[in-house]
Amino acid sequence: MKKYATLLLILLSTLTYSQSDSRLYDIIDNVSSKRIKNDVTTLTNFGTRHTLSDTTSATRGIGAARRWIKSEFEKISEGCNNCLEVFYQKDLIKEGENDRIVHDVWVVNVVAIQRGTKYPNKFIIMSGDIDSRVSDPTDFTSDAPGANDNASGMAGAIEAARVLSKYNFESSIIYVGLSGEEQGLFGGKGLAAYAKQQGWEILGILNNDMIGNISGVDGVVSNRDFRIFSEPVPPTETEQQRKARRFYGGEVDGISRQLARYVYKTTKMYMPEMNPILIYRLDRFGRGGHHRPFNDAGFAGIRIMEAHENYTQQHQDIRMENGIAYGDVLEHVNFEYAKKLTAVNAINLASIASAPPAPEEVQIGGIVQASVKLKWSKSEGATGYKIYWRDTTSPTWDHSRYVGDINSFTLDGIVIDNSFFGVAAVGANGHESIIVFPNRVFRE
Ligand SMILES: [Zn+2]
Repeated sequence: MKKYATLLLILLSTLTYSQSDSRLYDIIDNVSSKRIKNDVTTLTNFGTRHTLSDTTSATRGIGAARRWIKSEFEKISEGCNNCLEVFYQKDLIKEGENDRIVHDVWVVNVVAIQRGTKYPNKFIIMSGDIDSRVSDPTDFTSDAPGANDNASGMAGAIEAARVLSKYNFESSIIYVGLSGEEQGLFGGKGLAAYAKQQGWEILGILNNDMIGNISGVDGVVSNRDFRIFSEPVPPTETEQQRKARRFYGGEVDGISRQLARYVYKTTKMYMPEMNPILIYRLDRFGRGGHHRPFNDAGFAGIRIMEAHENYTQQHQDIRMENGIAYGDVLEHVNFEYAKKLTAVNAINLASIASAPPAPEEVQIGGIVQASVKLKWSKSEGATGYKIYWRDTTSPTWDHSRYVGDINSFTLDGIVIDNSFFGVAAVGANGHESIIVFPNRVFRE
């Protein structure tokens, strides 16, 4: 009898394990708002972290700030048997590169790599920014605390490293502080180029830029809402791919959009109290962020940020004007909210880094038939595959079917015209790859 009970228990735990991973709940619990508050406070205390600010002082300017960030990553690494490779990645930007670069400057990123056990050359990245600014983008001496923009994202990346360094993952995770954001996205550009040069296979970048404000200029106060920005299709797509899209679909199914949907789904599953909002655009209207240079290089990348912004607290000289307190100061950051968005990042990093590689090729067929057929290339480490589909007007993958360890499947009774389809690889641990939209069409 006891034997059967044990068997049943194993069976049940296997079943639930394929549904959710209890480690991810522990990860959420272990993210600390107190440590995030300490780190944001430390970052604001450097006075200014403007990209062109002083680099020699031990207490003020971007030099002191990046040395402190590097030392934090090194401290975390000491606590996990040197599990992080910590280094500076830098590029010299010459005066006049644009009108915000008023003198030659080294744009220095701080990188920490937690190497994957199975796929060390595959990387999922979480980024925040080191640099800050005031009203005049070339003013590199005035106090620019940049508490929300973007010490919040930077502190989130450091805290995610603290929490996730206690675990092993199959793919590598990078925690990075990027610099030069406010001067023209230079840090992201530099790291994306470095990644290409190193031959890194980037699964995606979760760029965090302003994850601490809950009280919007629109009057809405919410510690649940947050936005996930993603561009529709990569700017690097070929003319041939563009033409194919016209006939076979995919206008809203680029690689960054799939990453955005992955984050949406994982959040809904593990943090159902949160309200992720998919925004179908690269970034805010006419504004920029550090995921863009990665998109420019052909990598998947999204921006995670608060839903309700307050413009009197961004890029402002600290001052009182008409009874309004301008400035991006510590008092406006909600650390419980920054903790939640950090946890959103952490569970997605963990899940993507625990999943097998996505199938490289996914083919679709079924023209003028009553069923749709999918074929895909098998990927190393996958123990099964899951087909997803949705109405053409739906933003999220609403239907799915696990089909086991095979490489083709026919969905009977589902007409190809009326839905979009995708395939994910599933690992023995239940984690799923990012969904792949069909990249080939077959007729038979
Ligand atoms: Zn900014």
